[in-house]
Amino acid sequence: MKKTASFIFSPEQLNYEFSETHPFNQKRIILTMDLLKEMHSIDPDDIVEPRTATDEELLLAHDAKYIEIVKKASNGEVSESIGSIYGIGTEDTPFFTGMHDASALLVGGTLSAIEEVMEGRSRYALNLGGGLHHGFQGKASGFCIYNDSSVAIKYLQKKYGARVLYVDTDAHHGDGVQWTFYDDPDVCTFSIHETGRYLFPGTGNVTERGNGKGYGTSFNFPVDAFTEDDSFLHIYRTALREVAEYFKPDVILTQNGADAHYFDPLTHLYSTMKIYEEIPKLAKEIAEEYCDGRWIAIGGGGYDIWRVVPRAWSHLWLTMKSIPTPAGPLPEAWVKKWQTESPFPLIETWQDPPNLYEPVPRKKDIEEKNEQMLTRALHVIRKG
Ligand SMILES: [Zn+2]
Repeated sequence: MKKTASFIFSPEQLNYEFSETHPFNQKRIILTMDLLKEMHSIDPDDIVEPRTATDEELLLAHDAKYIEIVKKASNGEVSESIGSIYGIGTEDTPFFTGMHDASALLVGGTLSAIEEVMEGRSRYALNLGGGLHHGFQGKASGFCIYNDSSVAIKYLQKKYGARVLYVDTDAHHGDGVQWTFYDDPDVCTFSIHETGRYLFPGTGNVTERGNGKGYGTSFNFPVDAFTEDDSFLHIYRTALREVAEYFKPDVILTQNGADAHYFDPLTHLYSTMKIYEEIPKLAKEIAEEYCDGRWIAIGGGGYDIWRVVPRAWSHLWLTMKSIPTPAGPLPEAWVKKWQTESPFPLIETWQDPPNLYEPVPRKKDIEEKNEQMLTRALHVIRKG
């Protein structure tokens, strides 16, 4: 019998660890799963073990030389000067023992998620271990070694001949995926993010629309720093509706970085939990409308692993399982269990408390700028 949703997980996903103090911390997967377990919303049957991506699969989106360097770096055989050419051994993306295997497992997890859906075993699938959207063909960047989305989209094209809509709601621009498919008219990349004016990786301007035959299949929605829920959701909803209607995908892959929240230490957006309730709802709706349900969701950024990510990512799974959006207090056992480890007082309710932050003085200005950006970004579609 076809399952509603598959949850891709194995404890080895936590081996993707640069250091104990590095902001990218996969413990957030455990925190999320534990919250879902306390909600009695995840069964052992829902969990599917990720496979490891083969070299042949990694080669769909990465250079042989780069893979070879990552393998050597896994055993400490690459100098800092050589590593830096390939973006590894840097402050952002340091060397660590076993980095090839750990990275290939995250890619394999996204491939497992795709197989669950495309082979008809499950309607939806979630791989929170994936979402490494900054990985380039021959270079690591921004905590990302191999790019699971780029490999997975190539795999979807090669094995299933699918037209893919990639939707990236991480606070950072989904640059690695965009550049991989910049010339490809059969892959549409959609990224809503904080403007690159002051934030890594600096790209993601509305004028990046694709190249050659791929012109008009790359969409960027850079919102201003301090953007709040309503403006963010207005841009997301309007843009995703119009882009989906224009591109008409066979399958949707969503990258769900949870770093646009006010609490996130690396970005400057002022979202609350509200956007994380709403983002998956529209993704699912679009998948039902255009793709006969085929929706694969992956993780991404998210650096407040205690107060933000577990609640945010739970909404992905709850949406897939059609469990109504919870309100009120979080399960007491979850709060009790993790409060002792968390460096901050945990938020004990599903929704954020009102007045999470001081009113933003430039609110109106920001909303107007975002609206103008939206008009420019959708110009290619709207001019017909
Ligand atoms: Zn991010």
